[in-house]
Amino acid sequence: MDLFKEKKKWSINDIFKIVKKNPVFIKSNKDARIDIEIFLCSILKCNRVDLYLRYKDLLKKTQLDILKSYINRRNRNEPVQYIVQNTNFYGRNFFVNPDVFIPRPETEILIDLAIDKARQFKTPNIFDIGTGSGCISITMALEIPDSQIYGSDISKKAIKVADINKKNLRAKNLQLINEDIFLNFSHNPLDIIISNPPYISLSEYLVLMPDVLNYEPKIALTDNSDGLSFYKRIAQVGKTNLNQNGWIILEVGIGKQPSKVEEIFKNHDYKNIKLFRDYNKDQRVIVAQK
Ligand code: GLN
Repeated sequence: MDLFKEKKKWSINDIFKIVKKNPVFIKSNKDARIDIEIFLCSILKCNRVDLYLRYKDLLKKTQLDILKSYINRRNRNEPVQYIVQNTNFYGRNFFVNPDVFIPRPETEILIDLAIDKARQFKTPNIFDIGTGSGCISITMALEIPDSQIYGSDISKKAIKVADINKKNLRAKNLQLINEDIFLNFSHNPLDIIISNPPYISLSEYLVLMPDVLNYEPKIALTDNSDGLSFYKRIAQVGKTNLNQNGWIILEVGIGKQPSKVEEIFKNHDYKNIKLFRDYNKDQRVIVAQK
């Protein structure tokens, strides 16, 4: 079914109307309108408000063709963010491609907590494990200009993406490192270790929605085990790399995982361990002090 057969010339408003009339326009997504807005902003190089100011503007044939191709890709469950190659995190635009995990809004509370903890240090040294797109490292570097940030990732391709974002967003106080944290980790002295690690267990990974399963990098999502490997490793490396009273701030998964992670940090003698909830009221972040 070609929805665009009806007419020759399509304005922004015509497109919105047809999306409204055809709930199956994007089969994979209930939020077709939002996806279309994102596509149009990308194609017309404008922001959302402009779409409503320019709603009578006609799309050129090439622009309409791009829109059709984006819709086809979305219909095969490809995430919108990979299609338009960017996403917003903490108010800034980040370039993303399938080499990196797509930054999620829930991760923004990790940033709020880290900024709060960082206030205790004059020039905090902060290490972000598994930086991916660089969203955490770069945001911290820009929000705390007097800090020195290190962002590591095992994936060379992810480091390339993070480096593009670092340059685009001009984060000077950030060093990107291509390394595996399960090998030698020696970066002392650090004030804060922050991470949104691959915390999905292998069994949960296999039943993820196709948008995630078929498109996002497996290495960013699961540890291929019980989902706890990274917490155990971070608890270890924190002991040897953090200054006394330094903080660990980590995102955690849902269900029983938060209490299991809490247990790991208790067993490693961390103090002031606390779990924080996200906007959905799920426990989302754990904080622990050396
Ligand atoms: N640190 C990145 C983020 O939070 C990547 C996380 C990951 O790949 N697990 O988006």
